[in-house]
Amino acid sequence: MQAIVYHGPWNIQLEEREEPAITLPDEVIVEIRATGICGTDLSIISGEYNAKEKVIIGHESAGVIVEKGRGVENFNVGDRVIIDPTYYCGYCENCRKGLRNHCFLKSSTEAGVSIDGTFTKYFKTTKRFIYPLADDVPFEQGAMSEPLSCVLTAVKKLAVTPFYNVAILGGGPIGLLFYLALKQYGIQAGTIYETSANRTELITSNDILTSGWYLSGHFAPRKHQYDLIVDTTGSMLEKSIDAVADGGKIALIGLRNNQQTINPREITDRSISIIGSIDSQDTFKHAVDLINNQVLGLEKIITKAYGIDEFKDAVSDLGCNVAKRQRNNDISSLKSVIKF
Ligand SMILES: [Zn+2]
Ligand SMILES: [Zn+2]
Repeated sequence: MQAIVYHGPWNIQLEEREEPAITLPDEVIVEIRATGICGTDLSIISGEYNAKEKVIIGHESAGVIVEKGRGVENFNVGDRVIIDPTYYCGYCENCRKGLRNHCFLKSSTEAGVSIDGTFTKYFKTTKRFIYPLADDVPFEQGAMSEPLSCVLTAVKKLAVTPFYNVAILGGGPIGLLFYLALKQYGIQAGTIYETSANRTELITSNDILTSGWYLSGHFAPRKHQYDLIVDTTGSMLEKSIDAVADGGKIALIGLRNNQQTINPREITDRSISIIGSIDSQDTFKHAVDLINNQVLGLEKIITKAYGIDEFKDAVSDLGCNVAKRQRNNDISSLKSVIKF
């Protein structure tokens, strides 16, 4: 089977790999139909996020079961399914504390990062990590469960109220999923800050934002303007502290390395909460339900689909130019998927 394999920073290749085979009773083999391209994939390609060499990348997927072990009683061959790619053991100290997103085994078990992922035709997982995908929901929308689940985990931690005035920094897929999730919590007012002209144009022309929500370019807020600031860029904490209201919250979601200078006294004196969140914890089923019920309008966010042989073009359209070894702001799609 053809697969996108990581060989080191800026070195990804389309290669032939052996198809997986069932060896344990609880395993299933899923024929992948759609895999979303995630910011993590772009950071792996550019060398900003560590992945194991020779691993097949990709982790946001949906497909059809083509084979199952004898211990899989809850699914059948032919079932449409969504894959939860984030393994947890259930018995390490963190798992036993409910912190499954911090499972001690994660660093050696993460699909598309440390074990083979889903930019390929077949993927082996177990019955614990698959969920049904409704018949009338396209595979590419099912593939949005993983990023949506991460966003729902963060939103749960933020304990929002409908009255918050919100700023979302970054209008990429994660920023837009935050927008959709916060609206589910009744938040009717906010601004998404996005500096890419192409993304801004796509958000506007696809009519994604409902009234009360605005799109703006550069983040230049008034002092203490927002009750909640969601930073998906991972690089605007200093500015956010200036922009957050007394008693407000700042959510840090982006995974970018950089240093910021903050004054701890201000955090105390103004009762500011800074909340980090990674991966998903007890929200995957909720994400699956929202997607199967088709309440979010995800079709407006998924703007491009490619074949696996067009992978380098696909990431280039997201501002990750493999030939030039360069990340840029020349982004011509919101969420992109590889379809099989
Ligand atoms: Zn992802
Ligand atoms: Zn664990």
